[in-house]
Amino acid sequence: MKERCLVLIKPDAIEKRITGIVIDRFERLGLTLVGSKVVSLTEKLIRQHYAHLSGKPFLEGVIHYMMGDYNHITNHKIYAFVFQGKNAVSAIRDALGATNPDNAAPWTIRGNFGKFDKSADIVYNCVHASDSATDAEREIALWFSPGEVLDA
Ligand code: ADP
Repeated sequence: MKERCLVLIKPDAIEKRITGIVIDRFERLGLTLVGSKVVSLTEKLIRQHYAHLSGKPFLEGVIHYMMGDYNHITNHKIYAFVFQGKNAVSAIRDALGATNPDNAAPWTIRGNFGKFDKSADIVYNCVHASDSATDAEREIALWFSPGEVLDA
């Protein structure tokens, strides 16, 4: 099976209406969009997704950010995508740029559209992508049912 990567369009990206740009950039990398849905977020799902952040001082801020509390998104809904293709994880993460938009190269998505609110310690970095092929499969199983992803 070709490599897959989970992508989440975070509330700041939804507010900025850059979802189409994000899809376009990933498709231009030669990747195929094989999963696409709107997800109603729960705090439990965010905590499961970000289990590796357990104990970090900024975790509660991340939960508020993902729930849309800082971006006028009151329905707690975001887009979840699965992209598939050769080296999907590294290709997408290179196109996203560094976690902190202040450190992201200017041609990357986070460099273009992200923002770091230093005083509140909120990293508005627009898009999530899995950080390894193994983690991608864990995340895809968390966000999608098998029948919701194309067998491309
Ligand atoms: P990435 O999303 O680039 O894989 P991490 O998995 O380390 O990065 O972090 C998950 C998310 O937590 C980040 O995308 C960001 O929204 C938030 N975050 C990470 N580090 C910090 C930090 N030092 N302060 C505030 N928020 C952070």
